[in-house]
Amino acid sequence: MACGLLPLLGRHALVTGSTSGLGLAIAIQLARAGASVALHGLGDAATVESALAKVAAGYERVATLGNFSPALPRYYASPAWAPATVARDVEQLIADVEAVQPLDILVNNAGVQFVSPLEAFPPDQWDRVIALNLSAPFHAMRCALPAMRARGWGRAINIASVHGLVASVDKAAYVASKHGLVGLTKAVALEYARTGVTVNAVCPGWVATPLMDAQVRTRAAARGLSEDAARAALVGEKQPNARAAQGSEVGALCVFLASHEAQGILGSSYAIDGGWTAV
Ligand code: NAD
Repeated sequence: MACGLLPLLGRHALVTGSTSGLGLAIAIQLARAGASVALHGLGDAATVESALAKVAAGYERVATLGNFSPALPRYYASPAWAPATVARDVEQLIADVEAVQPLDILVNNAGVQFVSPLEAFPPDQWDRVIALNLSAPFHAMRCALPAMRARGWGRAINIASVHGLVASVDKAAYVASKHGLVGLTKAVALEYARTGVTVNAVCPGWVATPLMDAQVRTRAAARGLSEDAARAALVGEKQPNARAAQGSEVGALCVFLASHEAQGILGSSYAIDGGWTAV
């Protein structure tokens, strides 16, 4: 059952890498739209508890809108994914989630970055970025989508990046992984085109997350700028609007892509980048 204010009521979602940053913001938006949400990602007990509490607060909103009592959000612990183990670990995660409740919405969000010129790029960092940003979504879809197909409804949303559409210097692995994820999204969307399962990508530019704050502080210290000035300079270099998106804005786009009304959207890549790729 879905209704206008709660388009995802009754749906069950998994957001990988949702103990912090963008993944957590997406999980909160899905919960506010009525989905029951499974969290996954790294973090100590306090981090996980805080993430679960923030998602549960989204459920409280749902409860005020009607006589609904969604199950409490769950956290699925998993080992840190690594190139040699990612296939098995992701397979296990999907099996664990499916064992509790059929998975309707898969958001592949977990991802990492490594910055280096090509000639100095450590091969193990290349392998790590490709494993997390590209292989993990492949394995998650490989394991989760057949059951969605059998049930005749499902959504996979891959959090790529503006770097799935354009490149920046010193980001060979990240750019390759995110371009690969955009291509993977299209290929799988075509395979599932007549099944009720849609597959799409979201391509954010700068998003205000702790990861970004760290880069702002580094730039502020290196150039003797205030943090506000450093943030504006960092974002303004690439984005005509000179403003980082909020995670909630990316989450709202995910809610729409997960909704019934987005049934006709397949294999698309949505930039939410303040005009970065319009230049
Ligand atoms: P983040 O570091 O805050 O979050 C990354 C998440 O991935 C965390 O939950 C972490 O636990 C999980 N993770 C990291 N390493 C892992 C591992 N080895 N095994 C399992 N999980 C692991 O970063 P973020 O900025 O929130 O990024 C989330 C996603 O959004 C990434 O895919 C990133 O590429 C994408 N993205 C971010 C931005 C941005 O400006 N922040 C822009 C475009 C795209």
